[in-house]
Amino acid sequence: MRLSRYFMPVLKETPAEAQIVSHRYMLRAGMIKQASAGIYSWLPLGFKVLRKIEDIVHEEQARAGHIAIQMPTLQSADLWRESGRYDDYGQEMLRMKDRHGRDMLFTPTAEELVTDIFRSHVGSYKDLPLTLYQIQWKFRDEIRPRFGVMRGREFYMKDGYNFDLTKEDALHAYNRHLVSYLRTYERMGLQAIPMRADSGPIGGDDTHEFLVLADTGESEVFYDSEITDLKFGDREIDYDSHEQCQAVLEEFTSRYARTDETHDEALFNEVPEERRRTARGIEVGQIFYFGTKYSEPMGATVADADGNRVPVHMGSHGIGVSRLLGAIIEASHDDKGIIWPEGVTPFHCGIVNLKQGDDEADAACEALYASLTALGLEPLYDDRSERAGAKFAGMDLIGLPWRITVGPRGLKNGVVELTSRRTGESEELPPEQAIERIAQIYGRASV
Ligand code: ATP
Ligand code: MG
Repeated sequence: MRLSRYFMPVLKETPAEAQIVSHRYMLRAGMIKQASAGIYSWLPLGFKVLRKIEDIVHEEQARAGHIAIQMPTLQSADLWRESGRYDDYGQEMLRMKDRHGRDMLFTPTAEELVTDIFRSHVGSYKDLPLTLYQIQWKFRDEIRPRFGVMRGREFYMKDGYNFDLTKEDALHAYNRHLVSYLRTYERMGLQAIPMRADSGPIGGDDTHEFLVLADTGESEVFYDSEITDLKFGDREIDYDSHEQCQAVLEEFTSRYARTDETHDEALFNEVPEERRRTARGIEVGQIFYFGTKYSEPMGATVADADGNRVPVHMGSHGIGVSRLLGAIIEASHDDKGIIWPEGVTPFHCGIVNLKQGDDEADAACEALYASLTALGLEPLYDDRSERAGAKFAGMDLIGLPWRITVGPRGLKNGVVELTSRRTGESEELPPEQAIERIAQIYGRASV
């Protein structure tokens, strides 16, 4: 993309309404625009990152064997009356009537609808296990929407639902989700710690929340510092293997890690004092096992091997896709702007032309642009006739992890400059080598 042709309405001033850094930077970098309280339009740069996060979620769901569907945002109240949640959900549910006076609502989550799909189409234990998920806009009429996309009213969420014959199988689904979430967050450059949590309106006993440590987090968390040394990495896991998923769960949840809702001071004090940590965290996901809470009242049953109808065991699993943009920025920024992890960066690298209009500099930038594009990478080329300082400041704000700077002086010596946004370190090297380095970083074969 050429910046001169892009739409990236960068703000010079720090918006007064933004209390936390991710909200400030998202507004300043022209990623989002508030439409009304807790409701945002996604401008091109923000939308691109949202899509990258969404892509990672889809890929990791597929790897775990989960199947994507799409359910409507507007739902009839009838199903929610069957489960009893129409009355229980309270003011966070946005309710409305259609022209025939029928009660409708904007989906805050979708246990009822997915259970209805299941009971209509699945009748035998032979069709299990089954996990269906979607990535869809949700609405919760939060009493205090704030911090930009972190606590919106309309937000984008991955919600998945497992259907299993037995409790044991459903607990395997729970473990499998935990494993797949660990991998999902790490691919986004995040460490999200699974913590024992409270189940809230979804119900059920087994639940973990995934928290990203950040000072601006809304939850108070307590944990054993050893947990931050754990990395999932690129281990190969057989998601069908109960043992393997169970082993990962045990590895990542055996140390003390809880939110304030489930915190147990006595247990915490058993952790050696020098390893006890109290911090703030951002909830970026949650997994639940809730058994037959919905399948029983809604009649979601299958015939077991003896031909008896039994209610299926279920769980639900959520990832805060739009909240993740805020969480990633909270975890990765400096005083100049965002520092995107490579996995979610809106563009793979920036190209800064120090002397737009100079034949040689323009040609070198165009050549870099073409080569990177041919590798399947997306560079953002700042081809505006701006001062170098303004171009650098803009690139720093939007936080692309790599920048190639091209100027007449370097070109005389046959070099450009490759700069890491994270470390600030620069290196002079011939353009071909700069391309090779970028290709390597993103795992593309150089030509
Ligand atoms: P919270 O405790 O933050 O209100 P929750 O526990 O009610 O969230 P879940 O039902 O677990 O939310 O939803 C799954 C995920 O969706 C959460 O882990 C969070 O990342 C995200 N999420 C929930 N509410 C919001 C919101 N108002 N704005 C943005 N993301 C949200
Ligand atoms: Mg939650």
